[in-house]
Amino acid sequence: MQVFSNKLDLRNFLNSSNTNNKSIGFVPTMGALHDGHLSLLKYSLKENDITLISIFVNPTQFNNLEDLEKYPRTIEKDIEKIKSLSKEIIIYTPEVNDLYEKTITSEKFDFDGLENQMEGKHRPGHFDGVGTVVKKLFSVVKPNRAYFGEKDYQQLLIVKKLASKYKIPVEIIGCPILREENGLAMSSRNQRLSPEARKKSCIIFENLKKAKKNFKTQSAQKTKEFLENEFQKNKMFTLEYFEIADEETLLPCKRKNKTKKYRGFIAVLVENIRLIDNLRF
Ligand code: AMP
Repeated sequence: MQVFSNKLDLRNFLNSSNTNNKSIGFVPTMGALHDGHLSLLKYSLKENDITLISIFVNPTQFNNLEDLEKYPRTIEKDIEKIKSLSKEIIIYTPEVNDLYEKTITSEKFDFDGLENQMEGKHRPGHFDGVGTVVKKLFSVVKPNRAYFGEKDYQQLLIVKKLASKYKIPVEIIGCPILREENGLAMSSRNQRLSPEARKKSCIIFENLKKAKKNFKTQSAQKTKEFLENEFQKNKMFTLEYFEIADEETLLPCKRKNKTKKYRGFIAVLVENIRLIDNLRF
């Protein structure tokens, strides 16, 4: 396995003759890998000559220090999981100062308003942090294709916008959400839940599905009220937001328009751990 912790070593390797002119597929992650991450690697392995994964817990995208400190870090296990998929996958696991050098700060971005909705509203500075790290990673890896999960749908649109605004020659590929057996969207943060909460968190997806059904005959406002009511029934969960938004602009649906496609987006707190999910409506 090729494992790099330094961007110069990685660049030298990628510039070397045996990797030149080969297509590079890139999967950026924060580690604590699960099958959702591995599914992105599988797409990349199919479509590219070289697959590269980065494992880096990016400090600038955390607006909550406790969340950053408690973020699971399982690098040895991660390497084993990657190895079980293919020994050819290249791993980049930088320290903070390898990517950020002197100052650990975010660039400020304008993503044409995508950054002002949902996660952007509730996690100030989050998408500046995401934009900063993804731009840095793209400049180190120079991938032909990069794979992002629809689990973080708003992030996926923002990364597409970043690539187009900065004319970065990379194809951004969105991949479907992988779920646990009970329907809970896979997430590194799920590891922090108690077994009981992990089991009961299936209601997040169940309520999203109920809301989707409700939205077929009801307005967005009525569906929001319906879903809020569903969460009131269970004290273990605090609904942070539920929004029905246009899939392209992420603007909230005020009045249904048949020519538009919508998605339901949700953020919930369980045992003080923040979980997000979304579903095509
Ligand atoms: P993270 O390590 O949480 O930053 O995620 C790294 C990448 O994996 C992002 O593009 C995520 O959207 C994607 N991802 C995370 N969870 C899932 C999932 N359950 N299914 C598919 N992709 C996922």
